[in-house]
Amino acid sequence: MIETQKNIVDKFGRVHDYLRISLTERCNLRCFYCMPEEGIKLRDKAEFMSAEETLAIAQTFVAMGVKKIRLTGGEPLIKKNAEYLIRELGKLPVELAITTNAVIIDRFIDVMKEAGIKAINVSLDSLVEDRFNKISRRNYFVEIMKNIDLLLQNDFTVKINVVVIRGVNDDEIIDFIEWTRNTAVHVRFIEFMPFDGNNWNWEKKVSYEEILTTTNNHYGKSQLYKIEDQPNDTSRNFRLLEAKGTFGIISSVTNPFCESCNRIRLTADGKIKNCLFSQSETDLLTAYRNNLELEPIIRESISTKEKERGGNEKFSDEMAETLKNRSMTTIGG
Ligand code: SAM
Ligand code: SF4
Ligand code: SF4
Repeated sequence: MIETQKNIVDKFGRVHDYLRISLTERCNLRCFYCMPEEGIKLRDKAEFMSAEETLAIAQTFVAMGVKKIRLTGGEPLIKKNAEYLIRELGKLPVELAITTNAVIIDRFIDVMKEAGIKAINVSLDSLVEDRFNKISRRNYFVEIMKNIDLLLQNDFTVKINVVVIRGVNDDEIIDFIEWTRNTAVHVRFIEFMPFDGNNWNWEKKVSYEEILTTTNNHYGKSQLYKIEDQPNDTSRNFRLLEAKGTFGIISSVTNPFCESCNRIRLTADGKIKNCLFSQSETDLLTAYRNNLELEPIIRESISTKEKERGGNEKFSDEMAETLKNRSMTTIGG
């Protein structure tokens, strides 16, 4: 492994020690806010990182101070060799985590334990079967709910990601919180973000303030406890009195926590995105294949990172219309 003492630091002094690797752009669901109905355009396999390339590139980041790696996608678990990759990445001195739709996670319980994965983020946008299946345009609700139970039985920490969209699932906020009363899940409501082709507009997002008002009105402040935030936490977290689980709000649109951002994204085709909303990308895979030294290329990419939202002042309908970005499934959420 390459040895270096230096961390990856941007021009605002933010240390970047968290790498999110997209294993594939493809997915077994078609959530309408993330993925076109027909799926994404198929590309030549050679355009994507092989398992060996993913591992080698990940090792370079770890040698540069990365302490946490999250596997994402698309759906990371449908990647051929996902099991091998999880096992091998688990050998690196990092906290390994995964974000998944959980459709086939029952096949990965043993390897995730072996790799030392403790926490799993599962996306689930509705507790109503029919509605969930409409949002995801597939029929896997029953399997996902069974698999969430299986994860809990196997003592994984389970965070549930709910993208809240007005008129779609915003009437389920209280139902999700009620779920945390007797089940040790950690629900995180995420503000809906704009990406290519997902028809975002300002009105469709449900803000942090609005979610908090809904919960305060329903429970009264005395029923809700604020939980102390961890460093680099992107959610503000709460617990209902005597509940087994918790809930939180990720204000990715109204307050995206850019000031403490420590995240680097590596797409399945080996490009660095230094911000979820960056307009430019750095082709690390081609550099790797040409035997170039990756460290200066990584540093250069992070040194050009904008202060906030890829240089966009704030989200707006105008910005969403002109935004040039990949769809979320090809970035790796
Ligand atoms: N397939 C996996 C899953 O769904 O968990 C991992 C990839 S998915 C792109 C990662 C996360 O991004 C999911 O929690 C998903 O809900 C979130 N996401 C996708 N599109 C989004 C959007 N437009 N706004 C906010 N979150 C979004
Ligand atoms: Fe697939 Fe995740 Fe996107 Fe849904 S949010 S389409 S599960 S990648
Ligand atoms: Fe980090 Fe960019 Fe997200 Fe801000 S918008 S938190 S800088 S990735």
